[in-house]
Amino acid sequence: MFKRIYLEISNICNVQCSFCPVVEKDKKLMDPAEFEAILKQVAPLTEIVCLHLMGEPLAHPKFLQILEICEQYNTQIDLTTNGILIKKYKDQLINSKCIRQVNFSLQAFKDNFPTRDIEPYLLPIFEFVQAANEVKPELYTNLRLWNQESNDADNEDIYTKIEAYFNIEINRNLELGLIKSKKIWNRLYLHFDSRFEWPSFLLPHQGTQGRCHGAVNHIGIHADGSVVPCCLDKNAVINLGNVKEQALGDILNSERFTKMRDGFLNGVLVEDFCQHCTFINRFSKGAKKTNPIDKMKALVKNTALLLIALLCLIIPLKTTAQSVKKMPDKQLWTLSNLSLEIPGSYCYNDSILHCQKHGRLYTWEAAQQGCSSLGEGWHLPSSAEWKNLLKHFGGVFEESISDGKTAFEKLLRTKKPTFGATLGGNKNIDGTYSRIEAHGFYWTSTAFDENNAGFLNFANGKKVLFLQPDMEKSRAISVRCIKNTR
Ligand code: SF4
Repeated sequence: MFKRIYLEISNICNVQCSFCPVVEKDKKLMDPAEFEAILKQVAPLTEIVCLHLMGEPLAHPKFLQILEICEQYNTQIDLTTNGILIKKYKDQLINSKCIRQVNFSLQAFKDNFPTRDIEPYLLPIFEFVQAANEVKPELYTNLRLWNQESNDADNEDIYTKIEAYFNIEINRNLELGLIKSKKIWNRLYLHFDSRFEWPSFLLPHQGTQGRCHGAVNHIGIHADGSVVPCCLDKNAVINLGNVKEQALGDILNSERFTKMRDGFLNGVLVEDFCQHCTFINRFSKGAKKTNPIDKMKALVKNTALLLIALLCLIIPLKTTAQSVKKMPDKQLWTLSNLSLEIPGSYCYNDSILHCQKHGRLYTWEAAQQGCSSLGEGWHLPSSAEWKNLLKHFGGVFEESISDGKTAFEKLLRTKKPTFGATLGGNKNIDGTYSRIEAHGFYWTSTAFDENNAGFLNFANGKKVLFLQPDMEKSRAISVRCIKNTR
């Protein structure tokens, strides 16, 4: 399940912002029939649909028909708009059961009309927010000021008008971290961000290591049907296939997509294009947290920086150690299920969605190869190594010693995961899959005999953790890896 799918209904905009480079693709409006055919496939795969990638969704001449289709499919929509046409669609948007959030990109007005009075532009947006608050108080509205560190970062005029209209006071000394959002009135938020470079082969090579939410938490679909891994791929450089010619499920199961997604999950930037994406740097460990209000008067002259009107996040890979931890047994353990695509590894039901949640399932032999490929010293934990870890969490089930319940609770994924084990089920010898969400099985390296080896069993029915001696080595189950530190 993706968090978001960006389904671009049009790549045409009613303004041309300096931070949105010209789209090289042909201008395209998605016909409502085309939209419905695509939404049918998209809706079951995502929590939220965003009606843009490039382009202004409200400028689509058949926007209301598209909204109706979203309602038919009970889709949750996040709408991002420059707000110029908000008055025209105010009532329909507020009364639509599928609109969950509306983001107004306020920086667009200043960028296009720097000398014009901003009030006539802001007023219909404020009226929308006010009406939404009365009619549909659960609707989120974001006023985006994604112009930090740019030449027009002074938003004092906007703050003053917001304060006057909503009768509130905005704290100018906001302390904002990576989530640069500030609630200012009921469900109205200010959202800050800065300009950045769009990925391009013209940029210097950035390296081959990093993680990205593209392909993992979200994908994009252009108005012409091209499927891309992220909302930054405005020209469909990483064109994974066309949803008008091929089922979306097939595209997402393609080798190119799978390799790319598994790469991100394992800290590797597989695609050349991603290796030229500097967006990764804004989330690097050393990146400074900005205080946007403090910075709003600091004019940074780098006009080459561009602003995205879309939400994409990249998490940098620090080192392999980012996803490993020294556990109480004083050994290094991987903190998520292994997800390296190698022969003998599978996604449950051959579905990438299961792989995203549970990692891959490995035969015993593949599990050993997978762990050793992490680097020197990494290996599949033996039964003794598992037991040594688990005794710090209450231990596995052992008659009259431990009931295995505490370890079950502590090691499974919770709100504050200590280990993040999951109930990933298994691949059977006949090629079928079973027991997902009922059992989490993890290999040990301890062989029982020629055909069987030991495994951990998180049994969800009894909520007990067992260490069992014999599972057929040709079954495929989940894997954690260990590296000894002493
Ligand atoms: S690394 Fe950059 S180009 Fe690649 S998927 Fe992520 S955001 Fe897109």
